[in-house]
Amino acid sequence: MSVKEINIELENKTIVKAYRSLLKSIRREVTKGDKKLIREAFELSLEAHKNMRRKSGEPYIIHPLAVAQICAEEIGLGVTSVICALLHDTVEDTDITLDLIKLKFGPKVALIIDGLTKISGVFDQPDRSIQAENFKKMLLTLSDDVRVILIKLADRLHNMRTLDSMSPKSQLKIASETAYVYAPLAHRLGLYGLKSELEDLSTKYLQAENYLFVKMKLNETKVQRNRYIKNFIDPIAEDMRKEGFDFEIKGRPKSIHSILQKMKTQNVNFEEVYDLFAIRVIVDSQEVNEKSDCWKMYSIITDHYTPNPDRLRDWVSTPKANGYESLHTTVMGPKGRWVEVQIRTKRMDEIAEKGFAAHWKYKDNNQAQDHGLEGWLARVREILESPDSNAMEFLDDFKLALYSEEIFVFTPKGDLKKLPAGATVLDFAFEIHTYIGEKCIGAKLNNKLVPLNHVLNNGDQVEIISSGKQKPNEEWLEFVVTAKAKSKIREYFKQLKLKASVLGKEILERKFKTAKLPFNSESLYVLLKHYKLKTVADLYFQLANETIDRTKLDIEAVLLADKNKVSEPIIPVAKSKPQSVLPNDAIILSENEANMEYSFAKCCSPIPGDEIFGFITVGEGVKIHRISCTNALALMSNYGYRIIKAKWANSEKTNQKAFLSSIKVSGIDSVGIVSIITDIISKQLQVNMRSISINSHNGMFDGNIMLEVHDTRQLETIMSSIKSASELITVNRVDLS
Ligand code: MN
Repeated sequence: MSVKEINIELENKTIVKAYRSLLKSIRREVTKGDKKLIREAFELSLEAHKNMRRKSGEPYIIHPLAVAQICAEEIGLGVTSVICALLHDTVEDTDITLDLIKLKFGPKVALIIDGLTKISGVFDQPDRSIQAENFKKMLLTLSDDVRVILIKLADRLHNMRTLDSMSPKSQLKIASETAYVYAPLAHRLGLYGLKSELEDLSTKYLQAENYLFVKMKLNETKVQRNRYIKNFIDPIAEDMRKEGFDFEIKGRPKSIHSILQKMKTQNVNFEEVYDLFAIRVIVDSQEVNEKSDCWKMYSIITDHYTPNPDRLRDWVSTPKANGYESLHTTVMGPKGRWVEVQIRTKRMDEIAEKGFAAHWKYKDNNQAQDHGLEGWLARVREILESPDSNAMEFLDDFKLALYSEEIFVFTPKGDLKKLPAGATVLDFAFEIHTYIGEKCIGAKLNNKLVPLNHVLNNGDQVEIISSGKQKPNEEWLEFVVTAKAKSKIREYFKQLKLKASVLGKEILERKFKTAKLPFNSESLYVLLKHYKLKTVADLYFQLANETIDRTKLDIEAVLLADKNKVSEPIIPVAKSKPQSVLPNDAIILSENEANMEYSFAKCCSPIPGDEIFGFITVGEGVKIHRISCTNALALMSNYGYRIIKAKWANSEKTNQKAFLSSIKVSGIDSVGIVSIITDIISKQLQVNMRSISINSHNGMFDGNIMLEVHDTRQLETIMSSIKSASELITVNRVDLS
């Protein structure tokens, strides 16, 4: 027996084991007929992928088996999804045709596999607008069958779990796509368990060092934290037992991703993040007692610990649109620490972990949640079908909707409307009707008059005031947040411009005719230059609405003036090399690109110590960005093929160099604040300042300081010294220029 044969035997054992474990994981009823179909799907997939291996060297079939298991075990999907998951890569990668699948498994399975095949290439397009178009298509498949998206998420989760065997370049691309699209999608669908795992896994690759740091810190503090959690839980658990409840209490650390987010947004270090963990109380409740049981739990907890009234969230009475139900409160625990407690029933917990699949299971009892899914799908469809929905704008709007939390507001008649947080009076008006939106001049809010751009709060009752004279204004686009309001306002102006440009063209043609001049593109170009406009449509539009005074327009004079003008050089004189370019010894690029020119991106100004990557630009060599740069996610997920690995050359030479970095200081204005800050920087720490600008207004100040530093460690020292000098100052590193 050769060595290879032994491996195959072992592999076959692994495959059989994975298959058995898949069968066991299906928790819904499986008939004999179902079992036969699953077996057939498995055998078909096994045969089709038989000569293929994954990057890790494993036989390919392990992947579809694992995806099917995630569908069954972690999302709670049934037999159809398991069959589809087993076959999900066959049509795309093997000789199996959709017709064959339809023949063997019926039209439903074929439809889902078709959807999965179509969306698989969503991000393989190098062109960002094609990607956006594909993403739109992917969401359209939602209206066919949500299972397409759920299986796709399971597929992505397994690929993320096994990302170690991919090349560093693919790791960055796949991880950033996951953070950019898949995690928010899972969040919006209410798959919270899946969402945090996707986020943590992408953080592991996108911010490797930070990830390991938090992981280590969590480990170090584990014993101490568990002791605290036990002390917190013991007294309330005893009361709950006395009251005869059947319950479970868990205290778990929050995800590494969310801890890092907190450290970043609140600008604090690990020790200062106060809610490292959350307590979850899960009560096994009778359907009719669910709500009152949750509030009884709340009452027991708040008998022991004082709640923070600002941090009570009741999603039991009004569930989120994605079906999430839970009662959240933050209470003052032992040793004066705030502790977040989530209270929910077993059913609610399952929905929170598994999202809509769990809804199907409870469907009969819970029409309301299905309604939430329908409502969301209807909103997505509405955006997609809007004539104005340019794919790029759509992607941005959609992402906006994915991330935002919701608020609930009421119409004068008491109807409940759900809007994203940050929505304004105008968003509400457009939500009711396009016409109401276009004519809206303000609103009565709980009987007080407020302007169009007033941001609504949870529970507001809104009465729109409209006027027949009102017309949409382009400035409206700056404050509306809902996709609906945005697209309707854009559409209005598109129509308006269309009409106006016909009129504007007529006006201009007449002018040319009177002046006896030829109406051609050269003359039009001169006019555009004269009025500093970009497109002919803009010119027509401005003539029609009289932004350009047509009576004062003397075409002959404009054309003549242009001829006499000394022509300006079109190409600017060669610019001096940007200051941030350093000799090729600070950065080491990955092998193939090792000799390319590079420079540091202005948007994030990396300095030694930052995690970085290279982005191949058109004509400007490689730009080095920080991985935490605000542009990084979009770059990595949209232009993955142009990303290269880069690292700091850890040489003595680099250490001698100064890199430009800027910090933002702000706070409460007090006498001498500028000299306090500059003293610390230049006298105490002896760091060079390139520039400093500080503005103060209404008793507050904020400023920018450009520093010459060696690395992140030095920058951190500077920032913490300034911070510790006064409680009135906050310091942040500037991410965006
Ligand atoms: Mn796959």
